[in-house]
Amino acid sequence: MTLVLHTRAELRTAMVDAARPVGLVPTMGWLHEGHRALMKRARAENATTVATIFVNPRQFGNASDYTRYPRDTGNDIAICEAEGIDIVWIPEVEEVYPTGFDTTVSVGAVAEPLEGAARPGHFDGVATVVATLFALVGAEHAYFGQKDAQQVMVITRMAADLALPTQVIPCPTVREADGLALSSRNVHLTPGERVAAPVLHRALAAARDAYDEGEREGEVLRGLMEEILATEVLAQVEYASCADALTLRELQRIEGPALLSVAVIFGTTRLIDNALVGLEE
Ligand code: AMP
Repeated sequence: MTLVLHTRAELRTAMVDAARPVGLVPTMGWLHEGHRALMKRARAENATTVATIFVNPRQFGNASDYTRYPRDTGNDIAICEAEGIDIVWIPEVEEVYPTGFDTTVSVGAVAEPLEGAARPGHFDGVATVVATLFALVGAEHAYFGQKDAQQVMVITRMAADLALPTQVIPCPTVREADGLALSSRNVHLTPGERVAAPVLHRALAAARDAYDEGEREGEVLRGLMEEILATEVLAQVEYASCADALTLRELQRIEGPALLSVAVIFGTTRLIDNALVGLEE
């Protein structure tokens, strides 16, 4: 049975007696197969699993994006139950950020480019809420999707720098059959945009193929991704990046692991995706 909790105090009390190790899956709800994969992994590796459902206002740059983020708590709880999650924490904003809350966790260079540049303040919001969740839950393990690759890097940096006792575990991106990465935001796509959306994955796959065939020039790979993204008239490209997988600095030439990543706007919906190359080098 899944225990549904709402306050900090309830969560803290529940964690005191929780069997160890504890696995945490932080989410913003509107749960899909991507979240379910994280929950399955957490369940397989821990004695107690905790999921959190919180649409974090601090990580949204614009108010309308926050307001229209999809929410369905009833269905989310049913999914947590189906996945055998032990505790689901669904706090109100005031519970996460009580009156007087005045701390921001701000990660450095790795949070600056890509999503950090496109969404100022986003990673401060992410790091602040994740640090708070880590402190409240005290999990041994926390599971994050590689779909948000830079987020994984930011949180890993934060956990290492602050000596947080929670190990950050990245999990593979779950995709639709046509390659589109699952995302709660996909629900906002119009039917036409939904048909166009797998172009992100096609662009990344083409760049990865080119890499596999020996292409190492960053500019060529960025150009290739842009070219493919440009074939969809509905796609407004925000960035196509080929960056060092450790520092996220744009690469002239790939000589080690690299992160290929794209951000594209379809109408009012912003989608991101990525692929790692060069891991074996
Ligand atoms: P969100 O609810 O979008 O904040 O996502 C919660 C967690 O699920 C984050 O760690 C995401 O990276 C992860 N996630 C979201 N979509 C996917 C996906 N398609 N595959 C794997 N993990 C995902």
